[in-house]
Amino acid sequence: MKLSNRINTINGSARGDDGWGAVYRAQAMSQAGTKITYLAIGDHDEITPPAILDAMDKAARGGATGYAPVNGKLALREALAKRAATRTGVTTRAENIFVGNGGQGALFAALMISCDVGDKVAIIDPHYTTYPATIRAVGAEPVKIAALPANGFQPDADSLMTATKGARALLINSPNNPTGAVYSAQTLEAIRAACLANDLWLISDEVYETQVHNGRHFSPRQLPDMAARTLVVGSLSKSHIMTGFRLGWCMGPEEAIAVMTDLTNTTTYGAPGFIQDAAIAALSDSGIGARTSALYRARRDVALAALASCAAIKVSPPQGAMYLFLDIRATGMSGKEFALALLEAEHISVMPGESFGAGGAGHIRIALTRPAEILTEALKRIAAFAFARAQARI
Ligand code: PLP
Repeated sequence: MKLSNRINTINGSARGDDGWGAVYRAQAMSQAGTKITYLAIGDHDEITPPAILDAMDKAARGGATGYAPVNGKLALREALAKRAATRTGVTTRAENIFVGNGGQGALFAALMISCDVGDKVAIIDPHYTTYPATIRAVGAEPVKIAALPANGFQPDADSLMTATKGARALLINSPNNPTGAVYSAQTLEAIRAACLANDLWLISDEVYETQVHNGRHFSPRQLPDMAARTLVVGSLSKSHIMTGFRLGWCMGPEEAIAVMTDLTNTTTYGAPGFIQDAAIAALSDSGIGARTSALYRARRDVALAALASCAAIKVSPPQGAMYLFLDIRATGMSGKEFALALLEAEHISVMPGESFGAGGAGHIRIALTRPAEILTEALKRIAAFAFARAQARI
């Protein structure tokens, strides 16, 4: 039977590469018995803190196993609203919060309620892997704005203004996956100017909001006139070691949040009640987020030290999130070639930069999701591999 054009073109024209090929190869090698060091995926090497697991168990055994409110339990929406108001100073109520299935589910909901078929959605390249396909899934079309390494992967004001003319929405992500960029006050002001001039929805993916290595996170929702047009995507996946819980949210104007229930009645019926209770417990322990961000900050420092003397790899020190984005162009290889060759030679799995858009060409992304000693050892081997490849070119 014929599959829909939508699914056939979700990764670009005619069943394109979804960017995960190097990871699938690593998984196949692992199944065949090769021991792989995984530095490809942004998933924690620790399990969820016991207090959160206890709360989930207690909730499930206490009866929270039936259908939960489709838009999220009031107590959780209130807790998230209070947290946002405290962190940002923007008045936020439960009516501004929709609880979804992970940040990814919230992102899909944000795009569904803001964009029509054929609309253009601007994204900053390099971008998180799922963005183009998620935009195509709602029938819209991604438009890319380059953020160059020379500018610390911050998009510039002119490109933002020009590329968003005629678009319906701008989707941004700070702290950024894969680059680690945290948008400066100047970049956020340029984003605001483009949104106001071109009448855009701003979808602000803030799933790494607790992982700013220096200073504090600042949300563009805080800027003048922006709360009415901003949909913030949030998640407990990264901040509270809860990737498998699939618990995220979308925060925005009441009328936009209200219609997310209609959408969710056609998809998942919302997040499970016992997961939502675990989320309430997670939010009530403010120490968990702080401990997790301290862990990744320490790993970032260890990783940067391990690469300090490698002439074949250029590193822009990440300002946030849990990755290193390494420029390996001195080797003459593409990110994809490098990732596949590294996997065969060293059994280390990393993400090719091209998986994050054309702006990631000649880069690889390392997830800091292994303990410091393993990370150091793996990075030294990556550095030696890159150096040998660069030397072989001369
Ligand atoms: N947005 C970004 C930038 C991410 O890196 C991720 C996951 O890696 C997500 C969204 C989705 O996260 P979640 O697990 O909350 O769906």
